[in-house]
Amino acid sequence: MTARGEGARLVMVGVGLVGSATAFALMEGGLLSEICLVDIDRRKAEGQAMDLIHGSAFVPPVSIVAGDLSLCERADVIIISAGRNQKPGETRLDLSRDNAAIFQDIIPEIDRWAPPEAVIIVVTNPVDVLTYVAARLSKRDPSRVIGSGTTLDSARFRYLLGKHCGVDPRNVHAYVVGEHGDTEVAAWSLTNIAGARLDEFCPACPRGCKGTDRLKIEKDVREAAYEIIERKGATYWAVALALRRIVQAIIRDENSVLTVSTLMTGQYGIEDVCLSLPCIVNRSGAFRALELPLSSPEIERLLKSAAVLRDIQRDLGL
Ligand code: NAD
Repeated sequence: MTARGEGARLVMVGVGLVGSATAFALMEGGLLSEICLVDIDRRKAEGQAMDLIHGSAFVPPVSIVAGDLSLCERADVIIISAGRNQKPGETRLDLSRDNAAIFQDIIPEIDRWAPPEAVIIVVTNPVDVLTYVAARLSKRDPSRVIGSGTTLDSARFRYLLGKHCGVDPRNVHAYVVGEHGDTEVAAWSLTNIAGARLDEFCPACPRGCKGTDRLKIEKDVREAAYEIIERKGATYWAVALALRRIVQAIIRDENSVLTVSTLMTGQYGIEDVCLSLPCIVNRSGAFRALELPLSSPEIERLLKSAAVLRDIQRDLGL
C-alpha cells in the first residue's frame, strides 16, 4: 500500500446485496486499483464482476476480478459480508451460530493467503459477535480485525439530528456506541453541532424542542434497519457508503474517528468482547478505541450492551 493509497487492493468476501453495493461504492470512489469478488456462488461473483467492470468507462481506472480466497494474497483490506440475514422470529443466537460456522471456514483461509498487515472488516450480522469470532480465529493482531459496528448507526444519528436541527450532517458530531443492534447507546453527552455541545447549541436555537425529541431520534436510529427491512427486505446502500469511509480511513492512513467494532481491552472496565466506541482508524486498523467522558447513565447502558454480547458469546461456547 502506498502513502496515498495508489495501488491498494481489496477483497470482498460475499457479494450479495451488501457486498455488491459496497463494491459499486468503492469502484466509484477511485480509492483502489483492484477489487476482487469472492462468493461461495462463484458464478454470482463472476456475474457481479462483469456487471461492474462494464461501467469502467465512467469511473477512475480499477480492475475488478472474481475468484477464490487466494486473491487475498495481494489484499490490503478484506471485507466479509458473507452470511445471511435474520429471519422473522429467529433469535440472534441462531443467526450467530450459522454465520459463525461460515467464519470457521473463511477466516483460516484468509489468514493463509493475506499478508499479516492486511485489515479484515466484518459486516456480517450480528456484527459484534462475528467480529469477536473473527478476532479469535485469526492469527493477525486484533487491531487488524474490526467490525463495521455502529459506523452506520452513527451516520443515521448524524443524519436524523442534522435534519431535526436544520444542519448539514457533516457539521454534526455524534456517535452511537455499544452493540450494533437493540442495546446500542446514542452518546448524547459527546454530541456537538458546529463545535458547540447540545446544552450550548440548543438554547441558541429558535426551534425550542423538548427532551422527548431526543428519545424519538434515538428510537428512530435504533429501529432504522427494521423499518427498511420491513419495506424492502434488506439494507445495503448506506452501509456500503459507511464501509467506503472505513476503507478510506485505512488505505489513506487517516487517523479518522469512526465507531468501528473492536476488541475491548479494559475501556470502561469492558474486556473480551467486541463493540463500538469512537476509535482512531488508520493503516493499522482500529489503532485506538477512545475512552471519552460519557455520562453515568450512558456508561451503565454501555455495560449492559457489553453484557448482552458476552451472553451470546457464552451461549456460542466462545
Ligand atoms: P445476501 O444474502 O444478499 O448476500 C450474502 C452473500 O454471502 C451471498 O451472495 C452468499 O452466496 C454469500 N455467502 C454465503 N456463504 C458464503 C461463504 N462461505 N463464502 C463466501 N460467500 C458466502 O445478504 P446481504 O444483504 O448482502 O447481507 C449480508 C450480511 O450483512 C448479513 O449478515 C446482514 O445482516 C449483514 N448486514 C450488516 C450490516 C451492518 O451494518 N453491519 C448492514 C446490512 C447488512
